[in-house]
Amino acid sequence: QIMDSIKEAADVNVELLHRYQKEMRLRKKYHNELVELKGNIRVMCRIRPAIDQDGPEPENIISFDKTDDSIINVAYRGSKKIFELDHIFKPNATQVEVFHEVGNLITSCVDGFNVCIFAYGQTGSGKTYTMEGPPDDHGIYQRSLLKIFHEIEERKPHWNYQVFVSLTQIYNESLHDLLGKDPMAKLDIKQKKDGSGLYVPNLNIVEVKCVKDVNNILEEGGRNRTTAATQANVVSSRSHALLCVEVIGTNANNTATSQGKLNLIDLAGSERVSKSGADGERLKEAQYINKSLSALGDVIHALRNKIAHIPFRNSKLTYLLKDSLSGNSKTLMMVQASPAEKNASETMCSLSFAQRLRTIALGAAQKKTESIVDVSIKQNKNAYYR
Ligand code: ADP
Ligand code: MG
Repeated sequence: QIMDSIKEAADVNVELLHRYQKEMRLRKKYHNELVELKGNIRVMCRIRPAIDQDGPEPENIISFDKTDDSIINVAYRGSKKIFELDHIFKPNATQVEVFHEVGNLITSCVDGFNVCIFAYGQTGSGKTYTMEGPPDDHGIYQRSLLKIFHEIEERKPHWNYQVFVSLTQIYNESLHDLLGKDPMAKLDIKQKKDGSGLYVPNLNIVEVKCVKDVNNILEEGGRNRTTAATQANVVSSRSHALLCVEVIGTNANNTATSQGKLNLIDLAGSERVSKSGADGERLKEAQYINKSLSALGDVIHALRNKIAHIPFRNSKLTYLLKDSLSGNSKTLMMVQASPAEKNASETMCSLSFAQRLRTIALGAAQKKTESIVDVSIKQNKNAYYR
C-alpha cells in the first residue's frame, strides 16, 4: 500500500512538473510577445567563470534556477536576492551558445533593422570577452560579421549588399575615431541637413568585403585604442568602444533598398569609484562614465515603456545612437557579472540595473488595459462554458 501511495505521489509530481514547465513556456512566450509590442528590448546576463584574479578558492555567490533559465539568485548580505531577466548565461556557456541568442538580431540587421548590442558590467566581468573574445574563440564582433557575410551570400543574386564599418570610442564625453589619423581628435555629432538623422563629420567609414578586411580594421582600431589610451594616460576600460556596421542592400529587380545598422558596444566599466581613493582625473572619468551609463539606462527604460520624451541628449553615447535606438530598432543589453564574493556589491548593482531596464510599466494606458482585460475575461468565460 505504501509503495502504491509513493508511486501515486511520484506520478502526481511528474505531472505537476510537466504542467509547471508548460506554464513557464507560455509565460515566456507571452512575455516575448509583450516585449515585441513594447519595442524589442531584451536584457540578458552572462556570468563569467571564476578566474585567477578572483584569488584562490573564491567564494561563489551566484546560483541558478534548475528549470528556469531566466532566473538568477545572488547571495548578498545574508539573504538570497532573486532577479528575473530575459535569459541567463551560466559560467560554462560557450561563445557559440551566446551567439545563438544573438543571431536573429544580426539577420534582422541585414533585413534593414537597426540593432544595438551592449555589454555592460564592472571592469573584469567579461564584457570584452563576450564582444571580442580571445583569438581562438571569437565573440560577438567576429561572429556577427561572419553571419552578415553569410546572409549576404544566401541572398544573392536577388539582393546585392555593401557593408561599411566604423570604429569609435567615447572617452570623457568626447567622441574619437579609432580609424582616423589622429585618434585623439574630437569628433562632432551633427544633424543631417534634410533632417533624416544624425551623422559624424570626418568619421572614417570603411567598406569591408570579407572577414579578413574586418580583422584588419579591428586590429588597427585596437592599436589606436591602446595608443590613445597611453597618450591620455587611461586604461581602455574607462571608455566606451563602438563598432558600427552598416549594411546597405539593393534589390536586383526593383532597385528597392534596405538599410540596417548594427552597433556593437563594449561599454566602459560600470564600477563605482570611491571618492576618497580616486585622484582628480580618475574621479572625473568615473563621473563621466556614471553619467553616460545612467543616461543609457534612462533612454532604454523610456523606450521600453514607450514614454513620449526619450532623453537621448543627456549623453554623447545615447545621442550618437539615437537613430539606432529609436524607430525600427532592436536592442540587446548583455549584463556581465562576476560570480565572486569580492565583487558582490558591483554584481548587485549590475543586476539591479538590468532588472530596471526590463521593467515594463503599464501605467499610462490603464483605461485601455482594463477594457482589454474585460474582453479577455469574457472570452475566457465563453471558452469555459463551451
Ligand atoms: P571586461 O572587458 O569586462 O573588463 P574581460 O572580458 O577583459 O572583462 O574579462 C576579464 C577576464 O576574465 C579576462 O581574463 C577574460 O579572459 C576572462 N573571462 C571573461 N569571461 C570569460 C568566459 N566566459 N570564459 C573564460 N574566461 C573569461
Ligand atoms: Mg574590457
